Amino acid sequence: MSNQSPLRTLKGTLRGDLIEPGDARYDEVRKVYNGMIDKRPLAIAMCLDVADVSAAVLAGADHGLPVAIRGGGHNAGGLGICDDGLVIDLSHMKQIEVDAAAKTVKVGGGALWHDVDAATHAHGLAVPAGIISTTGVGGLSLGGGVGHLTRKCGLTIDNIVGAEMVLADGETATVNKEQHADLFWAIRGGGGNFGIVTEFKFRAHAIHTDIAGPMLWPLERSKEILQWYADFLPKQPDELNGFFAFLTVPPGPPFPEALHLKPMCGIVWCYVGPPDQADKVFAPIRALKPALDLVGPIPHPAVQSMFDPLLPPGLQWYWKADFVKELSSAAIDRNVEHGAKMPTMLSTMHMYPVDGAANRVGRDETPWAYRDARWAQVIVGIDPDPANRDTITAWSKNYFDAIHPYSAGGAYVNFMMEEGDDRVKATYRDHYPRLASVKAKYDPSNLFCVNQNIKPGAPAV
Ligand SMILES: Cc1cc2nc3c(=O)[nH]c(=O)nc-3n(C[C@H](O)[C@H](O)[C@H](O)COP(=O)(O)OP(=O)(O)OC[C@H]3O[C@@H](n4cnc5c(N)ncnc54)[C@H](O)[C@@H]3O)c2cc1C
Repeated sequence: MSNQSPLRTLKGTLRGDLIEPGDARYDEVRKVYNGMIDKRPLAIAMCLDVADVSAAVLAGADHGLPVAIRGGGHNAGGLGICDDGLVIDLSHMKQIEVDAAAKTVKVGGGALWHDVDAATHAHGLAVPAGIISTTGVGGLSLGGGVGHLTRKCGLTIDNIVGAEMVLADGETATVNKEQHADLFWAIRGGGGNFGIVTEFKFRAHAIHTDIAGPMLWPLERSKEILQWYADFLPKQPDELNGFFAFLTVPPGPPFPEALHLKPMCGIVWCYVGPPDQADKVFAPIRALKPALDLVGPIPHPAVQSMFDPLLPPGLQWYWKADFVKELSSAAIDRNVEHGAKMPTMLSTMHMYPVDGAANRVGRDETPWAYRDARWAQVIVGIDPDPANRDTITAWSKNYFDAIHPYSAGGAYVNFMMEEGDDRVKATYRDHYPRLASVKAKYDPSNLFCVNQNIKPGAPAV
């Protein structure tokens, strides 16, 4: 008996496969999106349905194992996998059901955003998501969700209307405004701390074709452009979204050869208002004479997947992030200084707007504690070559050290690596104790500990 897997019973119970070391598939299946992450779990349960998820949760609890939940596997800190624990993999649970009349969509906990975009687009609908369509719905939605539709439709969490969950005791729960309201509050920003979402229900919006794309300017103009952007965007209607970036122009179409491999600054626009107003909306932007203007009408799923080909799985990634309330002249100077030092072709800095509709959601309605921030900023060192790991990490950290003093304090949890309890607390601010009390109620032994972890705490008074 002693050399048999402690998870032998689970293997017999699961309808899906249990993949353990020694299985020919093990090394492939334990990979996550960030090539920097190399973790060796005891087993990976490839769940096919809710019963599988429940059996895996109970097995993890019975054996006292750390349990990681994997949705799309995109988490930069590698929080969809763990060493010496049990991974509950949802990648076979991708069912999608659109109710076009009610403008809602039910989505399996292991779906990717391109699955959702394809299904909703057929009905002229869209759910606010991130900017890369290969990202998992699970992790992105439970942490916040910022993207092209944030200013118009709010964060992804602002569009969750319900969830089906498996809790730490293996039981299932329907979670919404009326049922398990405390849990419904907590999962809209508190991450995978409270249980496994086997199905989300989202509100969808009538969005079909966007007027979108990047505009680029020479890096030498980045101070002027960032200053202008910081002043301009907050005054614009919600229908206009635009994230600022430092980037290096990719060496291929649709970019003109003259710009290939040039470090530049840019804004990726997405306008979802009345098409006949678009020229008026973009006129003051075009007056800044971008060196490249690729803005035009594009079907929404194409906007969502515009950058996918640049970022295949397996690259090395190192992220640092902050929330930003305002961009002072000194903060802009620091950004310009470090933006000019991008160490590799794919390394970048993005400032995602989190104002507009996202700002107008009540501060206590969800755990997202920075409704007063204007931007979620992320500095990302990226490169295919593991030899450049230290270089991209050092650039991200140095850039972060320079701008953090000008930030609002915490950061968007989904843009953080494993950075420790203080950073998690800084992110949730005074919502942390309430999250800790919901955690104590639903996961008192902290079974779900592979995440931006909220420790079980005293009941809220
Ligand atoms: C290339 C890239 C682009 C990105 N762009 C954006 C963006 O534009 N906007 C944005 O908001 N974020 C963005 N992100 C960040 C992204 O939101 C996080 O990485 C997120 O964690 C990914 O979710 P996942 O399901 O793929 O992750 P996984 O690695 O599978 O899981 C991450 C965590 O989520 C939890 N989790 C996942 N699924 C479930 C579930 N069904 N039930 C319970 N817990 C679950 C787990 O606790 C796990 O710790 C991007 C990430 C990458 C790598």
